[in-house]
Amino acid sequence: MVEVNSKYDVVIVGGGAAGLMTSILLARQCADLKIVVVDSAKRLGAKILISGGGRCNVTNRSVVAKDFNGGSRNVIKRVLKTFPAKATVEFFESIGVTLHEEQHGKLFPDSNKARHVLEALIEEAESLGVFLMTDCRVEKVEAGTNLFRIFTNNSELVSRAVVLATGGQSVPKTGSDGFGYELAKRLGHSVLPTFPALAPLILDGDFHEQLSGISLDVELSLHTTNDKTKRFTGSMLWTHFGISGPVVLDLSRHWHAAKLAGAEPAVRCNFLPEFDSQRMENEILDWAEQNPTGLLSKKLSQHFPRRFVDALCKELHISSEATFSQFPKRQRRTLVENLIERTLPVIDSRGFRYAEATAGGIPLNEVEPVTMQSRVCGHLFFVGEILDVDGRLGGFNFQWAWSSAAVAAQGVCGAIANSSNEKGLE
Ligand SMILES: Cc1cc2nc3c(=O)[nH]c(=O)nc-3n(C[C@H](O)[C@H](O)[C@H](O)COP(=O)(O)OP(=O)(O)OC[C@H]3O[C@@H](n4cnc5c(N)ncnc54)[C@H](O)[C@@H]3O)c2cc1C
Repeated sequence: MVEVNSKYDVVIVGGGAAGLMTSILLARQCADLKIVVVDSAKRLGAKILISGGGRCNVTNRSVVAKDFNGGSRNVIKRVLKTFPAKATVEFFESIGVTLHEEQHGKLFPDSNKARHVLEALIEEAESLGVFLMTDCRVEKVEAGTNLFRIFTNNSELVSRAVVLATGGQSVPKTGSDGFGYELAKRLGHSVLPTFPALAPLILDGDFHEQLSGISLDVELSLHTTNDKTKRFTGSMLWTHFGISGPVVLDLSRHWHAAKLAGAEPAVRCNFLPEFDSQRMENEILDWAEQNPTGLLSKKLSQHFPRRFVDALCKELHISSEATFSQFPKRQRRTLVENLIERTLPVIDSRGFRYAEATAGGIPLNEVEPVTMQSRVCGHLFFVGEILDVDGRLGGFNFQWAWSSAAVAAQGVCGAIANSSNEKGLE
């Protein structure tokens, strides 16, 4: 049982990536502050442990504001500038975690173990004297004149500043169940509608079922009634429920955003991204001219896995024995349409249970970008995924956690120093 009315300078609610980083950078800058990280989970950093397939994609070689969605790009840019990817690499080196680069600029720990990232963060926080409280859910935060009162399931804490680092709503079993938004609302903040980001998509029908396990490099385009067409290229994985893989995850938040806006999103897939319809049609005509007695299915199998070719031909009523000379114009057009702009019947995403991030949250215009301090409630700070920022796949969400934590650490330090000076003058 934790002491009732324990007094701290700073209470950080949430001990994930953003909360732990805030505690470390704050303790390094303001060594005499009494800091506690309070987390509802039995063990800290569950999301770090499951990240990057258990390897933790810590950041990316190149991180710019364009890699993020949500709030103002200028604010994001400013926050990233204070603590860019290079600073992340140096920071992790300082706690004994060296990183290496992989495909698409992704940086992973040399050990390839997310556990090492988490252990290093916890060790560093503890060695700096940060108190870490687990199994301790914050149920209410009250802002008084100079102090906050923080009510948890087993204690009551008092502090001069509070940092909300409660994450979003994705994979709620890790502890990030969205309750942080309630805490923020009760302190006067608004919360933009949240929806899953980086989530697999569910398809109608059963075409996908027979293709489960097949991965293809494709271009997906998202068409809506209110915005320009958005295009994403990369690897798409067919699954028993629909589609997943990097290109799908990156598109998913835009599908949800369009749905939320009532903009009737439609997803189309180009299975041969280097071709448009006209070029594809010409290509098939060339094949036919070169080898009129050749089998269409055999030719297609040079470009795609056999299972995909069989499923497509079956659906389009094209016999696997059909030769180019037996291939009517109408069928050729249908095939081209299905290869170059096939509509994927997306019903929904798999939701927060499977999403890697949360879109929406605390609006960036309700925080000061140079401190991450609330504009609504003094000495209240926000870091990480609780804010209306979500990154694309590739280490960007963690970079947002590290960068916003660095800005908040400076902000908290400054705010507490200022209030101490003011008290001294009274
Ligand atoms: C499967 C998966 C894989 C991912 N892989 C990557 C990756 O490789 N690279 C990348 O950049 N991003 C990745 N992400 C995204 C990344 O993990 C998150 O963006 C990041 O962890 C957010 O950090 P955070 O500290 O803001 O929130 P979280 O990590 O969600 O931490 C919030 C903490 O707050 C605690 N909490 C919540 N409410 C309360 C309360 N009321 N009282 C006390 N404590 C509370 C929770 O228990 C939790 O520990 C992945 C996400 C998932 C789900």
